[in-house]
Amino acid sequence: MSPERVLVVVAHPDDPEFLFGGTIARLVADGADVRYLVCSDGRLGADDPSLPTAGLVATRRAEQHAAAAVLGVREVRWLGLPDGELAPTLDLRAAIAREIERFGPDLVITHYPRRALAIAIEASHPDHVAVGETALSAAWGAGSELWVAGYEAADHAVDVSDFVERKERALLCHASQLGGGGVPEWTRHEMAAAGGRAGCRYAEEFVRQPPMAVGWRGW
Ligand SMILES: [Zn+2]
Repeated sequence: MSPERVLVVVAHPDDPEFLFGGTIARLVADGADVRYLVCSDGRLGADDPSLPTAGLVATRRAEQHAAAAVLGVREVRWLGLPDGELAPTLDLRAAIAREIERFGPDLVITHYPRRALAIAIEASHPDHVAVGETALSAAWGAGSELWVAGYEAADHAVDVSDFVERKERALLCHASQLGGGGVPEWTRHEMAAAGGRAGCRYAEEFVRQPPMAVGWRGW
């Protein structure tokens, strides 16, 4: 059965599109109501640190809403925390848990929840690690299926071959993050490599955890 309500919990504006844009487009095409929760305000996403923070935050917010619209996402909500300062705190867990409670997703998609030592350190942005861990803790017991970006031990591939153009159109909305260029080539390379492993042209990979067993009460 395909998911009906999907909550995407990420650290920064542009993370949903870079990490799972094809999957989001496909879930929407399959009829899902997909929504985003973006934890930080993206204020560090500038090549020129002298730029005023407020302007960049507003730009990135507008870019994220435009990108989400391209993918058919129905709502983008923001926690507005300072970019670069996310940590797996109880406050962050409570804020994410409130969104899970409010929306009642049957699928939560988020970052890989720990440092991926087997691959380049770029994949382990501290904000991403913090949000992945905290989102999984917030979703504990909520009955949602969980997919995290499959940096290590991926066991679930989504065939996004028909959704690559849409993903790239969404990525182009994040103009402030593209350095005046187009969509970085690595995005297609990664999807092609994942597709090679999955037996299709382009794929995005996840580690999947099924929902907790019904009636499970813990110890
Ligand atoms: Zn990010």
